[in-house]
Amino acid sequence: MNLDFTREELDFRQEVEEFTRRELPPNWDNQIVFWPGGYGTIPIFETEFQEVAKEFSLKLSGKGWARLAWPEKYGGEASVMKAAIVGNVLSYNRAPAGGVASSIVAPSLILVASEELKKEFLPKIADGRAGFWLAYSEPNAGSDLAALKTTAVEDGDDYIINGQKIWSSGAHVTEYAWALVRTDPDAPAHKSATLIIIPNNASGVTIKPIVNICDIHSFNEVFFDDVRVPKKYVVGEVNQGFYNVMLALQFERLTIGSGSFRRVLDELIQYARENVRNGRPLSENNQVRRALVDMAIEIEIFENFYWQSVCMLEKGKVPEIEASALKLVFTELSVKLANTAVDILGPYGLLDKDSTRAPFGGRVGIGYLDSISGPIGAGTSEIQKSILATRGLGLPRQ
Ligand SMILES: Cc1cc2nc3c(=O)[nH]c(=O)nc-3n(C[C@H](O)[C@H](O)[C@H](O)COP(=O)(O)OP(=O)(O)OC[C@H]3O[C@@H](n4cnc5c(N)ncnc54)[C@H](O)[C@@H]3O)c2cc1C
Repeated sequence: MNLDFTREELDFRQEVEEFTRRELPPNWDNQIVFWPGGYGTIPIFETEFQEVAKEFSLKLSGKGWARLAWPEKYGGEASVMKAAIVGNVLSYNRAPAGGVASSIVAPSLILVASEELKKEFLPKIADGRAGFWLAYSEPNAGSDLAALKTTAVEDGDDYIINGQKIWSSGAHVTEYAWALVRTDPDAPAHKSATLIIIPNNASGVTIKPIVNICDIHSFNEVFFDDVRVPKKYVVGEVNQGFYNVMLALQFERLTIGSGSFRRVLDELIQYARENVRNGRPLSENNQVRRALVDMAIEIEIFENFYWQSVCMLEKGKVPEIEASALKLVFTELSVKLANTAVDILGPYGLLDKDSTRAPFGGRVGIGYLDSISGPIGAGTSEIQKSILATRGLGLPRQ
């Protein structure tokens, strides 16, 4: 296996880097506090960054870069590698791009949805007009998603939806729910649910904010009261929702800001070069040097694993256990990086973003809090390990 980039790929990367530096708003980095691997500090989930995000999405779309991995039939180039290069550069620069619609909904629609749905949604996703949130978790259905209670009952050409979702990231700034609902209460759990698209502006949808540990409104609780949705918005087959969500989850576990760790590492190295503690440059402090080396090695291993998964996708294989392993490594690394950053910066690292003395605009203190969300969202670390034990190692189910 050859993980070297071709000349063409390197040139493309440079083009994307120049575009990103040119198109990001001035001082963008000081406005946001995004932490790699966390779910609570993603700028596109915040109301105040919607305008910037929409403008940036349009520019990306104008370049054709929002749909690079899609088949040519749907306006793409069928190049997972080029899409991953764009994702890597954007995440290094903490750009307000990506999100559920392009990284999870679009690839799932392409694989399982009707042509009618693809025609309606893919163009809107490509230029940022259709944003989505994931409506899976409920107050009593998280890891055990099969316990979900939100119902969809047939009524002529429609379904009538009733129930509650929770931890709904970005529901307040998007247009549609990508929702898992129960369509057959009598069938066994895994053959009773259906994936359906619910417009946020449908009558009976109520979105209530939940402020997260970082004091940011990134997620919500959402109530569906007699919400009428046309049957044509069903994604894939009725009562096959769990299989379709498992597929979408594999994409979610792969949608990680692959370049975002290296950015923090580069910044910490720079900080160690430029700062002095107890009269000595931090860069000469052995504890700091060892911590940076440990991080650099872990990030290198993660990146190799990431590009290996990209190569798999490029060959047309959907990474399954790799997606779980990558999500596990990525989010656990987020916590380790936050701990390392706090160790290197000392007490200053925990200062709030409003403090003038907070290094990196307070990103580390908030990142330290947000890093714990990574190992929970999109299936907890325990659930990923359980998947890896059975599907990866062939151990018996418990
Ligand atoms: C920041 C953030 C954003 C989120 N965004 C979304 C979103 O946009 N849409 C959405 O639908 N959901 C979202 N979630 C919800 C997330 O998917 C759930 O929190 C997660 O699946 C865990 O479910 P739970 O919170 O109900 O915890 P539980 O399932 O109750 O788990 C509690 C603990 O028990 C452990 N546990 C549970 N079952 C097992 C088992 N079988 N074996 C071993 N250990 C087990 C878990 O690992 C965990 O440590 C988000 C969560 C967070 C933190």
